[in-house]
This record gives sequence, C-alpha cells and structure tokens, in this order.
Amino acid sequence: MSTTISKKTTCDAVTTYSLAAIDQLLKMDPSLDPDFLRAIIKPKREIVVEVPLRRDDGKYVTYQGYRVQHNDARGPFKGGLRYHPSVDVKEARTLAHLMSLKTAVVNIPYGGGKGGIAVDPKTLSIGELERLTRNFTNLIQHNIGPHTDIPAPDVNTNGQIMAWIVDEYSKRHGHCPGVITGKPIELGGSLGRDEATGRGVMYCTREAAKEKGVNLTKAKVVFQGFGNLASFGARLIEQELGATVIGLSSSQGAIYNKNGIDIDAAEVYYKKNRGLKGFKGGDFMTNDELLVQECDILIPSALEKAITLANASKVKAKILVEGANDCTEADADKVLEERGIFVVPDILANAGGVVVSYFEWVQNLDNHYWDLPQVRKELEKIMVAAYSKVSGLATEHHLSMRTAAYTVAIERIARAMMLRGM
Ligand code: GLU
Repeated sequence: MSTTISKKTTCDAVTTYSLAAIDQLLKMDPSLDPDFLRAIIKPKREIVVEVPLRRDDGKYVTYQGYRVQHNDARGPFKGGLRYHPSVDVKEARTLAHLMSLKTAVVNIPYGGGKGGIAVDPKTLSIGELERLTRNFTNLIQHNIGPHTDIPAPDVNTNGQIMAWIVDEYSKRHGHCPGVITGKPIELGGSLGRDEATGRGVMYCTREAAKEKGVNLTKAKVVFQGFGNLASFGARLIEQELGATVIGLSSSQGAIYNKNGIDIDAAEVYYKKNRGLKGFKGGDFMTNDELLVQECDILIPSALEKAITLANASKVKAKILVEGANDCTEADADKVLEERGIFVVPDILANAGGVVVSYFEWVQNLDNHYWDLPQVRKELEKIMVAAYSKVSGLATEHHLSMRTAAYTVAIERIARAMMLRGM
C-alpha cells in the first residue's frame, strides 16, 4: 500500500509547513512532480534500539534509543542526540525532518538526522551516563560514520558525551574525530562551537531588526530558556547588538525585569540553585507568563511547541526568533501571521549550531584547525546569506519567512534527489 502524504493526512506542524512550501514550489515550477516532492517529507530510515545499562547498584535496566535518518541526498545525515524522557520515534522523526530542512536552507552539504535515548540523565550517575552512552554507540556504530551520519549534541547532551561516543566508535573503526561534532577542543572540536547557536540567533535577530526597522539599541528582548543557546545568545545580543535582555527562564520558572536583567548574576544564581526562583533581579513567573510579557523581540529557546493557540494571540513581541526547534504549532503560526508578528523560523534562526558543526567536520577531515575569528566570520557569512535568500523569496512572492525558508530548503533537496536519479 502506498504511504503517500496527502493534504487529508493529519500532520505535525513541520509536515504542514512542508506541504505549504510544496504548494508554493509547484506554483513557481509547475513541471515538478507533487508526489515526488511530498515523498521528501518521509524519513529514509528509522532505527530503534534497546540500550542496556548495568546500574551502580548492580541492577540491569534498558532504555529505548533512536536514530532517525531522514534524508541524505545533499550529504551525510546530520543532527543531534538528545537524552530526555520525551524522546520517542515520533519526536526524532520530526526533528530529523527539521534537520534536513535546516542544512538545506543554510546550504551546507548535509542531510538530516536526529536521535537520542528516552532517559532523564539527572537520574543517572556519571558512570552510568558513560556506560549508557557507550552501549548506545555500539548499537548504532554501523549506522553512523563521518560519511554516513554524524551526530552532535542536543538537549541534555554535551561535549563529554560526544567524547565518549568518539572514543567508543574509534575503538572499532580507527581514530575518527569526524564521526561526531560538538566534541571538546582537545579531541578535535571547533573553537566557537559552544557559542554557535546563540551567535547564529544573534545574526538573525540583527537582520530581522534591520528589515523591520526596529532600533536594536532600544530593543527589549525576552529569551525563554537559559541553556546553551540562551546563555550565549542573551549575552551576544547585549554585547554585539546593544539590546537589553528583560526575560530569561529555566524549566521551573522565569524572571522578568523590564529594566533589564544582570545576565551574569542570573547565571551564577541559576547554577547554584538549579533554577531562578528567588533571584532578586526580576519578578518570578511561569514560562507561559513570560512568553506573553511586553517586549520587542521574543526568542523561545527551550523545548518544542512553546507557541500554541493558547498564547499566540497574546504574544506582544513584534519579532519572534525561533531558537527552539519545532517552536510553533501550525494553528498558532496562522494567528501570528494574521497579527503581523514577524517570525524568523527555527530552521534558519537556530542553524548556527549545525553550521559550526560543519566547520568542525571540515577541520577534522582536513586535520587543519581554524582560529576563532575565522569561525565567526564564516558563520556570519553563511547566516547572512541564508537570511537574505529567504527574505528575498518571501518579499518576491509575498510569503511568510517560514514558507519561504521551507520552499528554499525543499527545492534544494528535491533538485539533489532528481540529479541523483532517486
Ligand atoms: N542539535 C543541534 C540542532 O538541532 C545541532 C545539530 C548538529 O550540530 O548536528 O541544530
């Protein structure tokens, strides 16, 4: 039986946005085959493994692990691994699809993949985390590789976890830093990879403000989140753009101060108290409340689906920069569009991380390492070129930035597939 995706199929937001972009592509080039284009939405391969772990107390447990390999027409599958209880094949499928679109919209030679383990790493000791990571690597070792599929960090995974993966993989396949990105510098990581997603968000914010005539030196910015993206992004937006950060949050709650937040003090407090409740430099509120506070620019940078039908009509920002993947539900996106809120979509806004992952991989394959100014310069070049390609198409065809970004990405993937003869 054919499993073609039609418009009648109930779909996730990423599929809905892809279908809208396919309609646009067909208007621009009616010679394209709609069924062929819709087939791009489907992943190429889905891997599910049962990852064993001997706990410190001797008990034997298993956790489900996943790797979804979405599309590799433009290059090896590429995308993060996350450790989170919500990880499942459906989530990995959506995020892998987003990765294919993300690498295509910024025009780096990769496809898309995503995976992880359905585990809360906070419940594991450091030794347990290492054993689980090594066991997972063994189970997927024949599916990954520097020219097949290159994982990277994502939610709750970091350089140390990438180091264990590269070590375990290299035991069986020879020294191979290019199998993974987001590694510590000592093991072939790239300078500037840690700040890359935040820096990319900062460049997109700058370009969007320019386009919409927002004066950044007077702009007030709310970040939802305080992980890697928000902690670098918030500082860069203040230091390099002169804007003021007035909101930040952790999973337990948020702080808001319309006069500005002392980011360094908030970080010290956050690390010490594992949350922001009680921090004196702002009013404490829920994450939901933070998203609808007065601000010029809103940057959700935590988990998926921050913007829903329940809050889209209350968002006060003029510009929404999607730091988080799969940030906005499809019905909420319509509300944002009707309200004239300018959205920089996730596949463009947060692509800085995978762009510097690409630089890391290039350096690994070359065995030649770049300095930080070079990384930053190359990142800026790629982000600005991608932004202007998307914004140019949006203006020319009166599209939202999201539809324009998806249209650019799907067209690039489709052309690569057609040239290969798939
Ligand atoms: N996890 C990041 C993302 O969602 C980075 C992926 C990568 O560097 O491969 O874009």
